[in-house]
Amino acid sequence: MLTDAEVDRALVIVAHPDDIDFGAAGTIAGWTAAGMEVAYCVATYGDAGGFDDTPREQMPVLREAEQRAAAKVLGVDDVTFLGYPDGAVTVTLDLRRDISRQIRRVRPQRVLLPSPERNWQRIPASHPDHLAVGEAAMCAVYPDARNPFAHPELLADEGLDAWTVLEVWVMGAPQPDHYVDITDTFESKLAALQAHVTQTAHFDDLDGFLRRMSSANAVAGGLPEGRLAEVFRVVTIPF
Ligand SMILES: [Zn+2]
Repeated sequence: MLTDAEVDRALVIVAHPDDIDFGAAGTIAGWTAAGMEVAYCVATYGDAGGFDDTPREQMPVLREAEQRAAAKVLGVDDVTFLGYPDGAVTVTLDLRRDISRQIRRVRPQRVLLPSPERNWQRIPASHPDHLAVGEAAMCAVYPDARNPFAHPELLADEGLDAWTVLEVWVMGAPQPDHYVDITDTFESKLAALQAHVTQTAHFDDLDGFLRRMSSANAVAGGLPEGRLAEVFRVVTIPF
């Protein structure tokens, strides 16, 4: 596994605005504080989300703004939306190419993505859009982005050279093996999630909900009493 100091750039690839912040905001706050440049690639605008009577046509605009604000809280300015329809994402060559484009542009050593494997203990983490983006992103990591002959238009038309990602962090994985202590960055995670007003304003006690979730992660990872954690499976990609 790479140390954070060995990672100059990280790319986080998800299906919906807010996926990053529920799963990894505390970890990302630690990465940017350590000087890492972090970029986001969000496949949809989250236009099928929300819990109130906000007019549906406003939802994608609101959610884009919310995600950009949440990114700023964590020190992330580079946010790209791919514009796929929320609730209807499938693993296609177009999606693999669009994610490969972002990998080749950002040139990250580390990529964070949703699990392509269903987690029977955490069904909401296994939303079909998450599974599809996880699979397409993994295909983009290996082999598409590193193979100059995959999606040849990326090189021929856009000048994007092949790029080899060294490590993948998986959110919502059925068999997690890495627990990040986020006790010191928890307030940033809470603030990032509060920026997703359409998704979190209806929580009676968002702070308590996140503390319980993060505390359970810490216990599962064997961290000391009272700590908070986010959880991943870390995969080293052979060069
Ligand atoms: Zn989601």
